[in-house]
Amino acid sequence: MSANLIDGKTLANKVKESLQNDIKRLGNDRGIVPGLTVILVGNDPASQIYVRNKERACKEVGIRSNVVYMEENIHQDDLLREIYRYNQDSDTHGILVQLPLPDHIDEGTIINAIDPRKDVDGFHPITMGSLFVGGDGFEPCTPKGIIALIKETGEEIAGKHAVVIGRSNIVGKPVSIMLLRENATVTVCHSRTKNLKSIAQSADILIVAMGRPESIDSEYIKEGAIVIDVGTTRVEGKLKGDVKFNEAFQKAGWITPVPGGVGPMTIAMLLKNTLQAATIHE
Ligand code: NAP
Repeated sequence: MSANLIDGKTLANKVKESLQNDIKRLGNDRGIVPGLTVILVGNDPASQIYVRNKERACKEVGIRSNVVYMEENIHQDDLLREIYRYNQDSDTHGILVQLPLPDHIDEGTIINAIDPRKDVDGFHPITMGSLFVGGDGFEPCTPKGIIALIKETGEEIAGKHAVVIGRSNIVGKPVSIMLLRENATVTVCHSRTKNLKSIAQSADILIVAMGRPESIDSEYIKEGAIVIDVGTTRVEGKLKGDVKFNEAFQKAGWITPVPGGVGPMTIAMLLKNTLQAATIHE
Protein backbone atom coordinates (compact mmCIF):
# COMPACT_ATOMS: atom_id res chain seq x y z
CA MET A 1 0.00 0.00 0.00
CA SER A 2 1.20 3.53 -0.57
CA ALA A 3 -0.03 6.70 1.08
CA ASN A 4 -2.13 9.56 -0.20
CA LEU A 5 -0.23 12.81 -0.32
CA ILE A 6 -1.62 15.70 1.70
CA ASP A 7 -0.70 18.57 -0.57
CA GLY A 8 -0.13 21.64 1.60
CA LYS A 9 0.64 23.88 -1.34
CA THR A 10 -2.67 23.21 -3.08
CA LEU A 11 -4.64 23.54 0.16
CA ALA A 12 -2.82 26.79 1.01
CA ASN A 13 -3.72 28.16 -2.44
CA LYS A 14 -7.38 27.29 -1.83
CA VAL A 15 -7.28 29.07 1.54
CA LYS A 16 -5.65 32.11 -0.07
CA GLU A 17 -8.27 32.27 -2.82
CA SER A 18 -11.05 32.32 -0.28
CA LEU A 19 -9.19 34.90 1.85
CA GLN A 20 -8.78 37.13 -1.19
CA ASN A 21 -12.56 37.25 -1.57
CA ASP A 22 -13.15 37.86 2.15
CA ILE A 23 -10.57 40.66 2.17
CA LYS A 24 -12.17 42.29 -0.87
CA ARG A 25 -15.55 42.11 0.85
CA LEU A 26 -14.15 43.66 4.06
CA GLY A 27 -12.77 46.53 2.00
CA ASN A 28 -16.04 47.06 0.11
CA ASP A 29 -18.33 46.72 3.14
CA ARG A 30 -16.31 48.43 5.86
CA GLY A 31 -13.41 50.17 4.12
CA ILE A 32 -10.83 48.11 6.01
CA VAL A 33 -7.60 46.88 4.44
CA PRO A 34 -5.95 44.34 6.77
CA GLY A 35 -2.40 45.36 7.70
CA LEU A 36 0.46 43.17 8.92
CA THR A 37 3.67 44.61 10.36
CA VAL A 38 6.63 42.24 10.38
CA ILE A 39 9.70 43.20 12.39
CA LEU A 40 12.98 41.61 11.34
CA VAL A 41 16.05 42.08 13.50
CA GLY A 42 19.44 41.34 11.96
CA ASN A 43 20.56 39.65 8.77
CA ASP A 44 19.82 35.96 9.25
CA PRO A 45 19.43 34.66 5.66
CA ALA A 46 16.72 32.09 6.55
CA SER A 47 14.68 34.74 8.39
CA GLN A 48 15.04 37.09 5.43
CA ILE A 49 13.58 34.40 3.14
CA TYR A 50 10.69 33.71 5.55
CA VAL A 51 9.88 37.42 5.76
CA ARG A 52 10.01 37.81 1.99
CA ASN A 53 7.63 34.84 1.58
CA LYS A 54 5.21 36.37 4.07
CA GLU A 55 5.37 39.72 2.26
CA ARG A 56 4.64 38.03 -1.08
CA ALA A 57 1.73 36.05 0.37
CA CYS A 58 0.21 39.22 1.87
CA LYS A 59 0.35 40.90 -1.51
CA GLU A 60 -1.35 37.91 -3.18
CA VAL A 61 -4.44 38.18 -0.98
CA GLY A 62 -4.66 41.97 -0.56
CA ILE A 63 -3.15 42.41 2.93
CA ARG A 64 -1.03 45.54 3.35
CA SER A 65 2.37 44.41 4.63
CA ASN A 66 4.94 46.60 6.29
CA VAL A 67 8.38 45.18 7.03
CA VAL A 68 10.49 46.95 9.64
CA TYR A 69 14.19 46.13 9.38
CA MET A 70 16.29 46.64 12.50
CA GLU A 71 20.05 46.27 13.02
CA GLU A 72 21.40 43.09 14.63
CA ASN A 73 22.91 45.08 17.52
CA ILE A 74 19.89 47.25 18.40
CA HIS A 75 19.07 47.74 22.05
CA GLN A 76 16.11 45.73 23.34
CA ASP A 77 14.38 48.99 24.37
CA ASP A 78 14.48 50.23 20.77
CA LEU A 79 12.72 47.08 19.63
CA LEU A 80 10.16 47.43 22.42
CA ARG A 81 9.51 51.05 21.39
CA GLU A 82 8.86 49.92 17.84
CA ILE A 83 6.37 47.29 19.05
CA TYR A 84 4.55 49.85 21.24
CA ARG A 85 4.35 52.14 18.21
CA TYR A 86 2.66 49.47 16.07
CA ASN A 87 0.42 48.44 18.98
CA GLN A 88 -1.03 51.97 18.64
CA ASP A 89 -1.02 52.12 14.85
CA SER A 90 -4.56 51.73 13.51
CA ASP A 91 -3.36 50.56 10.07
CA THR A 92 -1.54 47.61 11.68
CA HIS A 93 -3.93 44.82 12.65
CA GLY A 94 -1.29 42.14 13.13
CA ILE A 95 2.27 42.31 14.46
CA LEU A 96 4.84 39.59 13.98
CA VAL A 97 8.39 39.65 15.26
CA GLN A 98 10.44 37.21 13.19
CA LEU A 99 12.20 34.66 15.40
CA PRO A 100 14.88 33.81 16.37
CA LEU A 101 16.08 37.09 17.84
CA PRO A 102 19.75 37.89 18.57
CA ASP A 103 20.99 36.45 21.88
CA HIS A 104 21.07 39.80 23.71
CA ILE A 105 17.32 40.24 23.25
CA ASP A 106 14.89 38.38 25.51
CA GLU A 107 12.30 36.66 23.33
CA GLY A 108 9.73 36.40 26.14
CA THR A 109 9.88 40.13 26.90
CA ILE A 110 9.40 40.96 23.23
CA ILE A 111 6.45 38.59 22.70
CA ASN A 112 4.84 39.90 25.89
CA ALA A 113 5.01 43.46 24.53
CA ILE A 114 2.78 42.69 21.53
CA ASP A 115 -0.86 43.67 22.01
CA PRO A 116 -2.65 40.27 22.26
CA ARG A 117 -5.33 41.65 19.91
CA LYS A 118 -2.59 41.93 17.26
CA ASP A 119 -0.78 38.69 18.16
CA VAL A 120 -1.33 36.94 14.81
CA ASP A 121 1.53 34.47 15.45
CA GLY A 122 -0.33 33.32 18.56
CA PHE A 123 2.73 33.24 20.84
CA HIS A 124 1.65 35.71 23.55
CA PRO A 125 0.94 34.03 26.92
CA ILE A 126 -2.60 35.48 26.89
CA THR A 127 -3.22 33.95 23.45
CA MET A 128 -1.75 30.63 24.62
CA GLY A 129 -3.85 30.71 27.78
CA SER A 130 -6.97 31.37 25.76
CA LEU A 131 -6.14 28.35 23.56
CA PHE A 132 -5.85 26.23 26.69
CA VAL A 133 -9.25 27.19 28.08
CA GLY A 134 -10.97 27.04 24.70
CA GLY A 135 -11.32 30.81 24.16
CA ASP A 136 -11.71 32.43 20.77
CA GLY A 137 -8.28 34.10 20.48
CA PHE A 138 -5.79 33.49 17.68
CA GLU A 139 -4.57 29.97 17.08
CA PRO A 140 -0.83 29.73 16.40
CA CYS A 141 -0.19 29.40 12.68
CA THR A 142 1.71 26.11 12.36
CA PRO A 143 -0.63 24.08 14.64
CA LYS A 144 -3.65 25.65 12.94
CA GLY A 145 -2.21 24.61 9.57
CA ILE A 146 -1.57 21.07 10.85
CA ILE A 147 -5.20 20.65 11.97
CA ALA A 148 -6.40 21.90 8.57
CA LEU A 149 -4.11 19.39 6.81
CA ILE A 150 -5.47 16.52 8.92
CA LYS A 151 -9.04 17.60 8.20
CA GLU A 152 -8.25 17.70 4.48
CA THR A 153 -7.91 13.90 4.56
CA GLY A 154 -11.59 13.64 5.43
CA GLU A 155 -10.71 11.20 8.22
CA GLU A 156 -12.39 11.57 11.61
CA ILE A 157 -10.10 12.98 14.34
CA ALA A 158 -12.41 12.28 17.29
CA GLY A 159 -11.49 9.13 19.18
CA LYS A 160 -8.22 8.63 17.31
CA HIS A 161 -4.89 8.24 19.07
CA ALA A 162 -2.72 11.22 18.12
CA VAL A 163 0.97 11.11 19.01
CA VAL A 164 2.90 14.39 18.92
CA ILE A 165 6.70 14.15 18.93
CA GLY A 166 7.98 17.52 20.21
CA ARG A 167 6.74 19.80 22.98
CA SER A 168 7.83 23.28 21.89
CA ASN A 169 5.64 26.28 22.65
CA ILE A 170 5.19 27.03 18.97
CA VAL A 171 4.34 23.55 17.65
CA GLY A 172 4.19 20.54 19.98
CA LYS A 173 2.28 21.97 22.95
CA PRO A 174 -0.35 24.00 21.07
CA VAL A 175 -1.04 21.30 18.47
CA SER A 176 -1.56 18.81 21.30
CA ILE A 177 -4.16 21.07 22.88
CA MET A 178 -5.86 21.59 19.53
CA LEU A 179 -6.00 17.84 18.87
CA LEU A 180 -7.50 17.37 22.32
CA ARG A 181 -10.10 19.95 21.41
CA GLU A 182 -10.88 17.84 18.32
CA ASN A 183 -11.49 14.94 20.73
CA ALA A 184 -8.40 12.93 19.86
CA THR A 185 -6.63 10.99 22.60
CA VAL A 186 -3.25 12.69 22.71
CA THR A 187 0.20 11.48 23.74
CA VAL A 188 3.01 14.05 23.76
CA CYS A 189 6.59 12.78 23.39
CA HIS A 190 9.94 14.53 23.79
CA SER A 191 13.65 13.81 24.09
CA ARG A 192 13.23 12.03 27.45
CA THR A 193 10.38 9.78 26.28
CA LYS A 194 11.08 6.09 26.71
CA ASN A 195 9.97 3.61 24.03
CA LEU A 196 9.29 6.35 21.48
CA LYS A 197 9.06 3.84 18.66
CA SER A 198 6.37 1.70 20.27
CA ILE A 199 4.33 4.79 21.23
CA ALA A 200 4.59 6.15 17.69
CA GLN A 201 3.56 2.74 16.29
CA SER A 202 0.24 3.06 18.11
CA ALA A 203 -0.58 6.44 16.53
CA ASP A 204 -3.49 6.83 14.14
CA ILE A 205 -2.25 10.40 13.68
CA LEU A 206 1.48 11.03 14.03
CA ILE A 207 2.77 14.61 14.21
CA VAL A 208 6.54 14.89 14.08
CA ALA A 209 8.08 18.21 15.15
CA MET A 210 11.59 17.44 16.36
CA GLY A 211 13.92 19.23 13.98
CA ARG A 212 15.94 16.01 13.52
CA PRO A 213 16.10 15.36 9.78
CA GLU A 214 14.91 11.96 8.56
CA SER A 215 15.01 10.38 12.01
CA ILE A 216 11.56 8.74 11.83
CA ASP A 217 11.54 5.69 9.58
CA SER A 218 8.70 3.38 8.61
CA GLU A 219 9.15 1.28 11.78
CA TYR A 220 7.66 4.19 13.78
CA ILE A 221 4.56 4.27 11.61
CA LYS A 222 1.36 2.30 11.97
CA GLU A 223 -0.04 0.94 8.71
CA GLY A 224 -2.53 3.49 7.33
CA ALA A 225 -1.68 6.30 9.79
CA ILE A 226 -1.89 10.02 9.01
CA VAL A 227 1.66 11.39 9.21
CA ILE A 228 2.30 15.12 9.46
CA ASP A 229 5.97 16.03 9.10
CA VAL A 230 6.59 19.48 10.58
CA GLY A 231 10.39 19.29 10.53
CA THR A 232 12.30 21.58 8.21
CA THR A 233 16.07 21.41 8.40
CA ARG A 234 18.36 22.58 5.66
CA VAL A 235 20.82 19.80 4.81
CA GLU A 236 23.34 20.53 2.07
CA GLY A 237 21.09 23.25 0.70
CA LYS A 238 17.92 21.09 0.67
CA LEU A 239 14.98 21.20 3.07
CA LYS A 240 14.57 17.91 4.92
CA GLY A 241 11.68 16.76 7.06
CA ASP A 242 11.94 14.68 10.22
CA VAL A 243 10.40 11.65 8.47
CA LYS A 244 12.07 9.36 5.92
CA PHE A 245 9.50 10.18 3.29
CA ASN A 246 10.03 7.42 0.73
CA GLU A 247 9.69 4.54 3.15
CA ALA A 248 6.99 6.22 5.25
CA PHE A 249 4.99 6.76 2.06
CA GLN A 250 4.79 2.97 1.58
CA LYS A 251 3.23 2.45 5.00
CA ALA A 252 1.20 5.53 5.96
CA GLY A 253 -2.36 6.17 4.80
CA TRP A 254 -1.73 9.89 4.40
CA ILE A 255 1.47 11.91 4.56
CA THR A 256 2.67 15.50 4.09
CA PRO A 257 5.76 16.20 1.99
CA VAL A 258 8.63 18.53 2.94
CA PRO A 259 8.68 21.02 1.36
CA GLY A 260 5.08 21.59 0.28
CA GLY A 261 3.27 20.35 3.39
CA VAL A 262 3.09 22.26 6.68
CA GLY A 263 5.20 25.24 5.48
CA PRO A 264 2.73 26.77 2.98
CA MET A 265 -0.15 26.19 5.41
CA THR A 266 1.68 28.08 8.18
CA ILE A 267 1.80 31.16 5.95
CA ALA A 268 -1.82 30.73 4.86
CA MET A 269 -2.90 30.61 8.52
CA LEU A 270 -0.90 33.78 9.25
CA LEU A 271 -2.91 35.54 6.55
CA LYS A 272 -6.11 34.13 8.01
CA ASN A 273 -5.21 35.37 11.49
CA THR A 274 -4.40 38.81 10.09
CA LEU A 275 -7.84 39.00 8.49
CA GLN A 276 -9.36 37.86 11.80
CA ALA A 277 -7.43 40.66 13.59
CA ALA A 278 -8.66 43.26 11.10
CA THR A 279 -12.24 42.03 11.41
CA ILE A 280 -12.38 42.18 15.21
CA HIS A 281 -10.47 45.42 15.55
CA GLU A 282 -12.99 47.85 14.18
P1 NAP B 1 12.25 22.81 19.10
O1 NAP B 1 11.80 23.98 19.90
O2 NAP B 1 13.70 22.56 18.92
O3 NAP B 1 11.58 21.50 19.75
C1 NAP B 1 11.95 20.22 19.33
C2 NAP B 1 11.20 19.21 20.17
O4 NAP B 1 11.57 17.91 19.74
C3 NAP B 1 11.55 19.30 21.66
O5 NAP B 1 10.39 19.20 22.43
C4 NAP B 1 12.47 18.10 21.88
O6 NAP B 1 12.36 17.51 23.17
C5 NAP B 1 11.94 17.13 20.85
N1 NAP B 1 12.98 16.19 20.45
C6 NAP B 1 14.21 16.47 19.98
N2 NAP B 1 14.90 15.33 19.75
C7 NAP B 1 14.08 14.32 20.07
C8 NAP B 1 14.21 12.91 20.07
N3 NAP B 1 15.33 12.31 19.67
N4 NAP B 1 13.16 12.17 20.48
C9 NAP B 1 12.00 12.76 20.87
N5 NAP B 1 11.82 14.10 20.91
C10 NAP B 1 12.86 14.86 20.52
O7 NAP B 1 11.64 22.83 17.64
P2 NAP B 1 10.26 23.46 17.05
O8 NAP B 1 10.38 24.94 17.04
O9 NAP B 1 9.09 22.82 17.68
O10 NAP B 1 10.39 22.96 15.55
C11 NAP B 1 10.46 21.60 15.22
C12 NAP B 1 10.74 21.44 13.74
O11 NAP B 1 9.64 22.00 13.03
C13 NAP B 1 11.97 22.20 13.25
O12 NAP B 1 12.55 21.47 12.19
C14 NAP B 1 11.42 23.49 12.72
O13 NAP B 1 12.22 24.07 11.71
C15 NAP B 1 10.11 23.01 12.15
N6 NAP B 1 9.07 24.05 12.04
C16 NAP B 1 8.49 24.18 10.84
C17 NAP B 1 7.48 25.13 10.68
C18 NAP B 1 6.86 25.29 9.34
O14 NAP B 1 6.15 26.25 9.12
N7 NAP B 1 7.05 24.36 8.42
C19 NAP B 1 7.10 25.94 11.75
C20 NAP B 1 7.70 25.73 12.99
C21 NAP B 1 8.69 24.78 13.12
P3 NAP B 1 12.78 18.29 24.52
O15 NAP B 1 11.68 19.25 24.80
O16 NAP B 1 12.87 17.22 25.53
O17 NAP B 1 14.09 18.97 24.22
